[in-house]
Amino acid sequence: ILTVNNVSKTYQSGSKSLTVLDQVNFEIQEGEKIAIVGPSGSGKTTLLGLCAGLDTASTGSIILNGHIFEKLNEDERAAVRSRSIGFVFQNFQLLPTLTALENVMVPLELKKRKDAKEKAMELLEKVGLKDRVTHYPTQLSGGEQQRVSIARAFANEPKILFADEPTGNLDTDTGELIENLIFDLNKAQGTTLILVTHDTDLAQKTDRIIYIKGGKIQEESHG
Ligand code: ATP
Repeated sequence: ILTVNNVSKTYQSGSKSLTVLDQVNFEIQEGEKIAIVGPSGSGKTTLLGLCAGLDTASTGSIILNGHIFEKLNEDERAAVRSRSIGFVFQNFQLLPTLTALENVMVPLELKKRKDAKEKAMELLEKVGLKDRVTHYPTQLSGGEQQRVSIARAFANEPKILFADEPTGNLDTDTGELIENLIFDLNKAQGTTLILVTHDTDLAQKTDRIIYIKGGKIQEESHG
């Protein structure tokens, strides 16, 4: 479902350039559960962003679900994202002017689901936020915002879920709840999971670990 072919990424800041990813190659099959691990600053978030079509590689090619990202413009990549990708990212990207419920309803309304409100309520209940549905993002704690973003990602019924430290800001119980929900999504709908994590317990529960260091994939081990 995902092919990463000789991908490099160089950031320019002023006259300096920094190569964060250097000729990276791997493939992920539909329905696989993958953890991307590596030291801080090793390029995990950058790699996730490239795979999800949020940014473009400097060189190399990324093919997601048959779409060749470097051949698409930003609008076309956005269309691929809204059709087949779910995101759980550190900065949540919730819309500040919408309540928790409305945030989760966005992808459902885009899909013209008549039961958008009921479905969004159901998802918020699943992540333990039944009594916070009318709160705006600023009225929610960091962990609650993270759970809203997870409910919204699930609402998209993605073929692939990209998650950057999905359990990072959460207490142990909530982290476990989210972990179980993410793995249930894989089991029930065959959603491919690509998780960036420092949590070794979580990484061990996946099918495969991609270890990245110094811009290179150092090893791929089976979890
Ligand atoms: P962490 O585990 O700490 O979140 P990471 O492995 O996810 O780290 P990235 O966020 O991918 O690392 O960043 C890799 C490197 O690229 C870092 O050194 C970072 O400073 C640099 N970097 C990231 N984004 C940019 C950007 N937009 N412009 C310039 N440099 C960047």
